[in-house]
Amino acid sequence: MSTGKGTGRGRGRSRGTSGAGPASSRAEELRDLIREASHRYYVLDDPTVDDAEYDAWVRELEAIEAENPDLVTPDSPTQRVGAEPSEKFVAHRHLQAMLSLANARGEDELTEWNRRLETVLEQEGLGEEPVRYVVEPKIDGLAVSLTYEDGRLAVGATRGDGEVGEDVTSNIRTITSIPLVMRSDIGPPPARVEVRGEVYLPLEAFAQFNESRAAAGLPTFANPRNAAAGSLRQLDPRLTAERPLSVWFYAVGASEGIPAATQHEVLEWLRAAGFPVNPLIATYDDIAAVAAACSAWEERRGDLDYDIDGAVVKVDSLEMQRRLGAVARAPRWAIAYKFAPTTATTVLRDIRVNVGRTGAIVPWAELEPVHVGGVTVERATLHNQDDLARKDLRVGDTVVVQRAGDVIPQVVSALTQRRTGDERPFAMPTDCPTCGTALVRPEGEVIWRCPNRSCPAQLVESVIHFASRGCMDIEGLGEKTVQKLFDVGLIANVADLYDLTAEQLIPLEGFKDQSAANLIAGIGASAERPWPRVINSLGIRHVGEVTADAIALVAPRLDALLAASADELARADGVGPVVAEAVTEFLSSDDNRAMLERLRRAGLTMEMDLPDGPVVGPLTGCTVVVTGALQGFTRDEAKRAIIAAGGKSTDSVSKKTTFVVVGADPGSKAEKAGKAGVPIVDEDTFAAVLAGAAPVPARDDA
Ligand code: NAD
Repeated sequence: MSTGKGTGRGRGRSRGTSGAGPASSRAEELRDLIREASHRYYVLDDPTVDDAEYDAWVRELEAIEAENPDLVTPDSPTQRVGAEPSEKFVAHRHLQAMLSLANARGEDELTEWNRRLETVLEQEGLGEEPVRYVVEPKIDGLAVSLTYEDGRLAVGATRGDGEVGEDVTSNIRTITSIPLVMRSDIGPPPARVEVRGEVYLPLEAFAQFNESRAAAGLPTFANPRNAAAGSLRQLDPRLTAERPLSVWFYAVGASEGIPAATQHEVLEWLRAAGFPVNPLIATYDDIAAVAAACSAWEERRGDLDYDIDGAVVKVDSLEMQRRLGAVARAPRWAIAYKFAPTTATTVLRDIRVNVGRTGAIVPWAELEPVHVGGVTVERATLHNQDDLARKDLRVGDTVVVQRAGDVIPQVVSALTQRRTGDERPFAMPTDCPTCGTALVRPEGEVIWRCPNRSCPAQLVESVIHFASRGCMDIEGLGEKTVQKLFDVGLIANVADLYDLTAEQLIPLEGFKDQSAANLIAGIGASAERPWPRVINSLGIRHVGEVTADAIALVAPRLDALLAASADELARADGVGPVVAEAVTEFLSSDDNRAMLERLRRAGLTMEMDLPDGPVVGPLTGCTVVVTGALQGFTRDEAKRAIIAAGGKSTDSVSKKTTFVVVGADPGSKAEKAGKAGVPIVDEDTFAAVLAGAAPVPARDDA
């Protein structure tokens, strides 16, 4: 990363192994950097370098030590786990050491790990035995070891340096999902057992927690892991109790008489004894299937309501585990398959603002480019001024940037301890940066807006929205092309698109005969999009895909829409008074009416067939949520099918949800539904319900 500043970052970056002079001095330098970072991470819960940078130092040191075995010192961080326990707490010596995990980046390193373990198993005479694997999510929290005596919680401790941890028993007792007494389902409890798991802070709780800290003027935590560690490692258990920590258990340490021969039986025993065990853990018979499961986890990490930074692959047989043993600070029988990091630190170069299609002024961050979540990020949204103020971001700050899956990059927090005093707070402009009109902020709203309907920035954004997927889906009309058409004066609003000709486009930079013809064809084809899509494309405030569907049901033709009053619209299911007001306000503008008239003349679909009166069907009165991929429906088609059957389609599970349709690779909604007692059905049942061939599933509380 090119942004080092303050602490050890700059030093770590400035010299590579090659230019470092003797390997021993580089090794020494790396050990210092790693020790300092570990102390800040494990003891102070306040890291100043990101994990990727830290991991690169460790790997570099490991490589030097592998080439120069005489340089390995017993106190080298490559030989040790975590950091010394803090003196704030009473020390607790683990009965069985808590190790770290070796890690693999990508399938090749995973296969290499498997090859090594097969070699050892062969030497141990177990070469013929098939190896099974358990794949578990690698929860990004902090490891704890709980000692139970005769089934009762006696001690709860952190990992510390692996041998000695910190006694945090009173804090552990405040985590409600940790059983103080084991369940009797397991029969007589073992005399003494260490159970191990990961304490974490769910993402929503983390966001709320940071928000309330910022509101109280306290520094925020960079990520949920640090927040969880900071919360558990409190001297006052009342403070821990205020933070909604959760936990997943995944191992036992020293134990007497647990009836298990495999890791998955250990997990079953833990579950039966009353410990939360992650339901998504699965076993596999070959390493290719393990690799596929690991990459599937990486894809789905954004669906979970907790952070995972990898998948842990474990050899299932405990006998094999025993024979494989451990090297240095990690067992040979397990490996952490690490995902691409979703957070990174970089420098906030500037804060600028954008004018959105509804005039919203959205601040965004210009960042020193940084690699995160598999892409290089140079910009990130800053949402609104309140959010910016809450996070106290200043130009010049070193900031934590997050990007997971398809999610838009976000600036999570500033590393305030790295401030030099030269950072500048941001001042919101008072006038629109595009048209100069004075900005307004309606009472009770957090967003400043440009009230000028003809503001060029808003017009450009409204055409980009109009052409986007989910709206008119015009092939070949991306942001840059829209901007170009505006710049050369060919369009000033969406209706102008339908007057464009290929001859007008050909002279423009970037267009040739074929591409001009293609764009004209794409615009022409968009006229076929159904009426609800047209409504969605207009860019009316508060109107999205689902609301547009609901509006189309009460106003199935343009004339009906133009004639509808706010009260009439608000009476429709799924259209509240705020949406109704926004729609009528949009339609009260003569310019907008004229534009709609031009769109009608251009041949756009401005009506749809509807049975008379409200739709009555098998799903009348039902609210349905779809999650995961269905075979026979796209997400859009499923929503329409629900509406056509008289039901309501929503995106999140709530008290009002009648049932949830679960397809392949569902997200956390399925889990949430399970917990809330909302019925879950598969695609076939869904199709049968739509066809009226199966009854609507009933809720437990119905
Ligand atoms: P690790 O995180 O790579 O792996 C071991 C840990 O994984 C275990 O101790 C346990 O806490 C956890 N874990 C989660 N789910 C598990 C499961 N299902 N089964 C077993 N273990 C599971 O190793 P580590 O020694 O805890 O820490 C090293 C990591 O911490 C590195 O990846 C590094 O990026 C980070 N770190 C960062 C800094 C920093 O300054 N940014 C400093 C020190 C360490």
